[in-house]
Amino acid sequence: SEVSNKIAAGEVVERPSSVIKELVENSIDAGATLISVEIKKGGSIYMRVSDNGSGMSEEDAKICFLRHATSKVQTSSDLDAIYTLGFRGEALSSIGAVAEVELFTKRHEDETGVCVTCKGGEILSSDEAGIPDGTSILVENLFFNTPARRKFLKKDATEAGYITDIMTRFIFAHPEISFKLIIDNKEKLFSPGDNSLENSVYTVYGRDYAKGTIPVEYESDGIKITGLIGKGTLARPKRNYQSFFVNRRYITSRTIIAALENAYKNQIMIGKFPMAILNIEINPSLIDINVHPTKLEVKFSDEKAVYNAVYYGVKNALYEIPN
Ligand code: ADP
Ligand code: MG
Repeated sequence: SEVSNKIAAGEVVERPSSVIKELVENSIDAGATLISVEIKKGGSIYMRVSDNGSGMSEEDAKICFLRHATSKVQTSSDLDAIYTLGFRGEALSSIGAVAEVELFTKRHEDETGVCVTCKGGEILSSDEAGIPDGTSILVENLFFNTPARRKFLKKDATEAGYITDIMTRFIFAHPEISFKLIIDNKEKLFSPGDNSLENSVYTVYGRDYAKGTIPVEYESDGIKITGLIGKGTLARPKRNYQSFFVNRRYITSRTIIAALENAYKNQIMIGKFPMAILNIEINPSLIDINVHPTKLEVKFSDEKAVYNAVYYGVKNALYEIPN
């Protein structure tokens, strides 16, 4: 019903950045190699996510706004499934329930594409469309029918900042994908998608940071640590240049922060923080995740093993460089 859709929508769609997160994840799932995000005025009036991924059939394009319309296999064996447990196939329906949405999509094998419009949970139209392969979703007037929620939105610049943060995490998690972020007609981020994490750092933090990175590659107890860390001379006054991923999903973890920063002891002044982009590859069954789509803090069933892997991974990388 419309009521239950609106309730579900509140779980997944908290603000414009949650829409961007869901849409970009879908583009990644669709195998896109180019993903372009455009927003206006903090996103609440205008957000567009376009990709060159698999596209949808006409039939799938019509049903994707229904609750639990998912083409993805449900298995609790991947972190993605744990994250979205109970929320599978709810992103597009949730977004469609609280905004005006225009979906353009075309599969490579189809002659023509399709355009489906949905407003406040109702499908308004479905037409043939001459468009390139892939999917483009336009979301306008977010929360037009839930004014209470709209009131919770912050200033445009703050909401745009959240979207930039989300895009930054995708750029770090997927250096093989080219991402573009346009805010109010200005290109804010562009990553080449050449599978170089160093170039991802260049895109997000600029040349000095990209030049000052040290690669990390380490494995112990079946836990693999890869990524880039910054030279001590590039330490930051805050932790804002630290991003951690588990199986390429952005997370936060006190254990990882502690391991990273202890490994830098004597390399960095007290009160300064290293740059780090680290991915932890670990069997998903060893992760205890808070089952809520907006919570990112993870616990590991063996925190000590994760601590050690990060600590020694970072320490080895740091002391291999001549200084
Ligand atoms: P979920 O991702 O959990 O399956 P969503 O509501 O996010 O649920 O999406 C519903 C379905 O719509 C997906 O399973 C997928 O089949 C299709 N879909 C959504 N976005 C895209 C896209 N960008 N490209 C291709 N298919 C898509
Ligand atoms: Mg999805």
